[in-house]
Amino acid sequence: MKLLQHTRISRLGIGPILTYLFGIIAWSSMKQALALNYLLKNQCELYNAALQERIGLYKWNKQPLSFFDQCKTLTHLKEVRPEVLNNGVTVCRGTLQRLDRSFKSFYKRCQKGQTPGFPRFKSLNRWKSVEYKDITGWKLKEAESRIRLLGIGDVKVKLTRPIKGTPKTITLKKINEKKWYISIVCTNIEKNTLPRTGNEIGIDLGVINQVALSNGQLVEGQRFLRKSEDKLALHQQSLERKKRGSNRRGKSRELVSGTHRKISNQRRDFNHKLSRELVNNFDLIVHEDLNIKNMSKSSKGTIENPGKQVKQKSGLNKSITDAAWNQLLQFMAYKAKDADRTLIGVNPRYTSQICSHCKHVSKENRKTQEKFLCRQCGYLENADKNAARNILEAGRALQGEKDLSISICGGSK
Ligand SMILES: [Zn+2]
Repeated sequence: MKLLQHTRISRLGIGPILTYLFGIIAWSSMKQALALNYLLKNQCELYNAALQERIGLYKWNKQPLSFFDQCKTLTHLKEVRPEVLNNGVTVCRGTLQRLDRSFKSFYKRCQKGQTPGFPRFKSLNRWKSVEYKDITGWKLKEAESRIRLLGIGDVKVKLTRPIKGTPKTITLKKINEKKWYISIVCTNIEKNTLPRTGNEIGIDLGVINQVALSNGQLVEGQRFLRKSEDKLALHQQSLERKKRGSNRRGKSRELVSGTHRKISNQRRDFNHKLSRELVNNFDLIVHEDLNIKNMSKSSKGTIENPGKQVKQKSGLNKSITDAAWNQLLQFMAYKAKDADRTLIGVNPRYTSQICSHCKHVSKENRKTQEKFLCRQCGYLENADKNAARNILEAGRALQGEKDLSISICGGSK
């Protein structure tokens, strides 16, 4: 019963179905390449100016500036800096929105009692992408594999897969001097409902690069990330030793960002495959609500073998693991919605302490990170698998409540 009181349905999976498409951009002339770089530089300047404006006004008369206030001032740019508006007002709004987002998350974290860093001025080294938040300023010509960008012209695009639905927003991202990516968000996509399977599953998202399923399966896919993580730590240390502004530092930074890119590609690939498999095979998928999980769990004691550099590594591992699980849930959410499956997030409280066999709850049940041994009935199991079973149970109970309330409401009408 304890378990039930703290459960809730996660917010994931609500909202319109969106898909993300990726592609590679190639310019057909040096002029286009320069124009793309110029667009990036202008937007970086705009971001910094807008940040300065917010700080200045607040210091001057304690007035906060909103996103809409700043959008209004965009029209004045026509007289002072017309080149910033060359690529249209949409991309400028995207930049201001990005600043607004970083302020919002800053305030949100302040309210939670955390100590976040104040939004920073960006150097071009840290400014790699621009966003078009509506359908003006660009036009996708799928048949010709081109995208027309205002102020730049027709740029070649190689899409990873054909477009489904209506393209809504785009983001252009510079990877390095030779490579740019485009990502397109589409909406109004037709549902692709899958036939019922009659199967249900609970999943426990481990900290040690593994996922445990309530049917007893352990998925150890993320272990390969370990290798890249070690490499990343090495590159990062070497970067810190290099002199600021030097050529060698630039090269080192390229290595670090390359490793980051590799890790995120591997992770995305893994999460796409895992989420696809789960959604294809199960009607009901229950997972832990990560928002609650992170509040209750400290990063300490979650690493399998604490050894050298455990402090730096635990920070790195934790941020990577968190990001990875969030991504997996996001992928599952949109795939589940598309296939008409049910995805439920439950409070992970007590799920590691309850015996899934006899329901006895005790801290003593879980002696080590890996083993679960029930003090009452002697049930012995892998701790994560036991947790996954409890998670499934909590999800079933929650779904039962929901179905009941629907049938009561329906009956009274
Ligand atoms: Zn038991």
